[in-house]
Amino acid sequence: MRAWAEIDHDALRHNVGVLRAAAPNALLMAVVKADAYGHGLVEVARTVRDAGADWLGVALPQEALELRAAGDTGPLLCWLAVPGDPFAKCIVGGIDVSAYDERMLDEVISAAGEVGIPARVHLKVDTGLSRGGAMPPWEDFFARARQAEVEGAIEVVGLWSHFAYADQPQHPTVTAQVSRFEDAIARAQAAGLRPRLRHLANSAATLALPETHYDLVRPGIAVYGISPGPAVGTEEQLDLRPVMTLKSRLVMVKDLPAGVGVSYGHQYVTARDTTAGLIPMGYADGIPRAASGVGPVLAAGSVRPIAGRVCMDQVVVDLESAPAAAGDEVVFFGDARRGHPTATQWADLTDTIGYEIVTRLGPRVPRIAVGGQSDADAETEEEPDG
Ligand SMILES: *Cc1c(COP(=O)(O)O)cnc(C)c1O
Repeated sequence: MRAWAEIDHDALRHNVGVLRAAAPNALLMAVVKADAYGHGLVEVARTVRDAGADWLGVALPQEALELRAAGDTGPLLCWLAVPGDPFAKCIVGGIDVSAYDERMLDEVISAAGEVGIPARVHLKVDTGLSRGGAMPPWEDFFARARQAEVEGAIEVVGLWSHFAYADQPQHPTVTAQVSRFEDAIARAQAAGLRPRLRHLANSAATLALPETHYDLVRPGIAVYGISPGPAVGTEEQLDLRPVMTLKSRLVMVKDLPAGVGVSYGHQYVTARDTTAGLIPMGYADGIPRAASGVGPVLAAGSVRPIAGRVCMDQVVVDLESAPAAAGDEVVFFGDARRGHPTATQWADLTDTIGYEIVTRLGPRVPRIAVGGQSDADAETEEEPDG
């Protein structure tokens, strides 16, 4: 294989356990949007359910329907739909949907009417992120929802919101958002609604802000073993295990003389006679071009920065004459305990966040399961390989 991402299902299980312990009194919704943050939707979903996640959360209705098509039957919420998205299919599939305003609520109500099944709805309120969700004071929004509930078109199962600054747990907006959320809960109740699932906490809040757990927590990035931010803690401090290890192989190793430029634009110039290793991974695979000259790769026994520019399909590393040959494995990022660079280090060096490093990994890179998947998977995998 040219390149692959090992997905450690034991690490997934471990992280689910850490999150479960962090929020012992709340239901646990593992967020598996965006192909499980690049880790592979269906396989990750199976393992996290098996490891004790009560709910799964995705952004798109299409992601939720993909889970149902793959045989997933558990509690499932999707929360980001454009007009015309397949609400009716979601309702038939037993998928909870979200409404951000009265227009979206009306669309859900009419989809429920079409299929003759009440839609299970989580009402989204904006408490200060100024992204999705209805703006206070929510009077018409809640009244419309209650009316539809009385008419039997919907059941308001949830009331929820999202933080702007949970990754800085001391930030004053956190308490401001909590008090606005409390206000939304009170107003929903005054409107006659009884949402059983009030939810607000992402990974950072699940780990650092227990007072925000309410009935259900929605961690995403921590499930994958990546810290939501330095103010919450390092992976080591949070006892999170990186799930993805991104690997490739050397295509060739060759001698280079001192003083030659390497890769497009000759940004890197060899300091002495050396050896160069060619790695067949580039920005088409999700290696950020911003990692030119800095992205750390474990190759020939040491962590070495990418020499010069990241190309579409290739990068070069200066192997400094260390023993190496075509076919040798290299690691872009993985588990620090194994001496790998981490996704968080990659993010810090390229001015982004660990979320983007794993999520942007391209479709040319197969995801290979390692460790214990669910029992069902294990049975099929235990067949003799002939
Ligand atoms: C992505 C997302 C989450 C998970 O956030 P993390 O920071 O990855 O834990 C939770 N809730 C909503 C609405 C999201 O969009």
